[in-house]
Amino acid sequence: MRLIVDTSGGTYPVHIGKGALKELKPTLARLEPTGVVIVTDTNVARWARTIAKSIKSSRLKPSIYTVAASERSKSLAALGGLLAFLERKRIDRGGCVIAVGGGTVGDLAGLAASTWLRGVALVEVPTTLLAMVDSSIGGKTAVNGVRMKNAIGTFWQPAAVIADTDCLSTLPRGRYREAFAEVVKYAVAMDRPLFEQLGRDSELLVAGDPDALQSVIMSCATAKALVVARDEHDQGPRAILNYGHTAGHAVEAASYFRVSHGRAVAFGMRVAARISNAMGLCTRRVVDQQEELLTAYGLPDAAPSVPVERVLAAIPSDKKARRGRVGWVLPRRIGFAEVGHTVPPGVVRRVIRKALA
Ligand code: NAD
Repeated sequence: MRLIVDTSGGTYPVHIGKGALKELKPTLARLEPTGVVIVTDTNVARWARTIAKSIKSSRLKPSIYTVAASERSKSLAALGGLLAFLERKRIDRGGCVIAVGGGTVGDLAGLAASTWLRGVALVEVPTTLLAMVDSSIGGKTAVNGVRMKNAIGTFWQPAAVIADTDCLSTLPRGRYREAFAEVVKYAVAMDRPLFEQLGRDSELLVAGDPDALQSVIMSCATAKALVVARDEHDQGPRAILNYGHTAGHAVEAASYFRVSHGRAVAFGMRVAARISNAMGLCTRRVVDQQEELLTAYGLPDAAPSVPVERVLAAIPSDKKARRGRVGWVLPRRIGFAEVGHTVPPGVVRRVIRKALA
């Protein structure tokens, strides 16, 4: 299955499905790179080695650069190490970086590709479900600042994305399940048919059925591609992708990242839907339908044990947010959310207190 992403920064294919890795060779034949560096992490290195072998030829000798499998690899120090490697391998303007890994590797490799010699080609080979449905598409690259996540980055669209569901076979179950929080996000915020499919096929999807997965990844990637095409540089509409992330990020930060991203986003979506309902913007049924779906994907409504006050303090205040207000993304009905809502602080406090009780 193939999807085309069309942005001012580049038009590129996203190949999705079982065996999609076979598209890598034709992709490189099109790009004709003068050199290739594969960036990966220690948990994914075996995939990187398989890929390196499959593209090796008399003309092309790919090198592999492996970082520690940790969010800490999204640092300026790691970026420096990778850029030095590209220099050592004499990657010139015609070179290509292939990111083989999850969002961590993709964000780091993307930033290196966009800054090395002011930009070389990037191919994304996402190996987590989250990277397949989200981070590999759209061109956001980043490393973290000292305190601030994704503080240093660029917009740099890949030349191709290759999402082979076979790569998910080695992904730990917990990681796999949690990524469904982001999948449910697309469904509730943008895609009612996807919501219905997720409800129908939950057993197949939880078990990793390749056909069901291919279709769901395609829906999510299409939703992301549409948003990115409209708002590549995150000036407005792209904020829809933050559904569930306002309260979600606050819980993540308030727990010092003990609460995982997936669980935090699930919590954040519950909060957003309840706020929407409290403000008369959606029915109770929307809250309940979302709840059922999250529970079906192993994201039950267990309040994270995080102090309420710390969570409230981590919600962006009017002062901290861009242009002086916090834009909440609130669902109006299943498959349709709106960005940029102002929510009275009293409502936020009441809903979050109740959600954490
Ligand atoms: P990740 O890249 O940290 O991977 C999770 C873990 O799974 C790691 O330990 C990794 O080594 C391991 N792993 C990955 N693929 C594997 C496989 N096939 N088999 C076995 N182990 C495997 O996590 P993630 O959830 O993919 O990405 C999270 C990162 O993505 C965050 O840094 C986040 O900021 C970023 N992100 C970026 C965007 C964007 O638009 N650029 C969007 C969302 C998230």
